[in-house]
Amino acid sequence: MTFELPTLNYEFDALEPNIDARTMEIHYTKHHAGYVAKLNAAVEGSEWADSTVDALLENLNALPENIRTAVRNNGGGHWNHSLFWSIMGPSEDSGPSSDLSDKINATFGSVDAMKEEFSNAAGTRFGSGWAWLIACKNGDLCITSTANQDNPLMTDLGMCGGTPILAIDVWEHAYYLNYQNRRPDYVNAWWNTINWSAVNGIWAKATSNSCDCSCS
Ligand code: MN
Repeated sequence: MTFELPTLNYEFDALEPNIDARTMEIHYTKHHAGYVAKLNAAVEGSEWADSTVDALLENLNALPENIRTAVRNNGGGHWNHSLFWSIMGPSEDSGPSSDLSDKINATFGSVDAMKEEFSNAAGTRFGSGWAWLIACKNGDLCITSTANQDNPLMTDLGMCGGTPILAIDVWEHAYYLNYQNRRPDYVNAWWNTINWSAVNGIWAKATSNSCDCSCS
């Protein structure tokens, strides 16, 4: 398998004024495309060349040492950005599904409280990285952040292995053209770009997979 840049389901300017078209274009065509190219170069000719990106990230310690760091950085970059594009879109008047908002309310008190904790995780991540809202394997929700292109799938690095349902890129390349050093302003504006129907779909799929029963 050759990894490919996923289709962006909206125009570069679709997220304005929250995320500007130039940032989107560079981010997608240069940064994400770069991770894909470097991931392909890393696995080419190895026994992992036909793996899925999920399988690579879930088995970092099993990879040959000479490609492990490249896969961690570029496979993580590919996976993270693919999720990031998919959970954003032109604004729509929707929010968490009743099932997801019930879980958010039970866990954080309210949707606004969840957003505050998530935004705080994004704002306090030192340097480059990501903040996550994760559907844990036991059905709980949790918020965390990771450095660089690491993500929750990387259990060999001590990550939880849950399913991210919200993710924000807080690398400066994600916001610097428009927001310069004002990361909190970018994070606040980013909430306006969320495609909640996509998020709700990921949540529904994650929770339907969370049981230990042997569904056939
Ligand atoms: Mn990025």
